[in-house]
Amino acid sequence: MAKHRLTWPWWRRWRIIATVPSVYDTPEHLRRKQAIIVGTATSPKWLVFDCPCRQRHRVMVNLNPDRRPRWTVVKSSPLTLTPSVDETLPGSRCHYIIRNGHLHWA
Ligand SMILES: [Zn+2]
Repeated sequence: MAKHRLTWPWWRRWRIIATVPSVYDTPEHLRRKQAIIVGTATSPKWLVFDCPCRQRHRVMVNLNPDRRPRWTVVKSSPLTLTPSVDETLPGSRCHYIIRNGHLHWA
């Protein structure tokens, strides 16, 4: 019997797996549902992950309060990110929210 998705353990949800000092320290490919913070714990700059769409392109959202637009990591594991991610690519648009480690397409 399929479990309700809210019962998924934390390691099957979106989460932050590391904080690294520089964008150059992020791996070329990230596993599904894994995100990395660039910066420091007290001064995060970017949240980096690979888009859950078929193209799996790299997504970087700004966490620096001095820049706009700005996103906030409400919770790191499982991940809650606000507001929604809205990436426009040639021919497609990736618009979703990540809340409590679950991704919801908008
Ligand atoms: Zn995408």
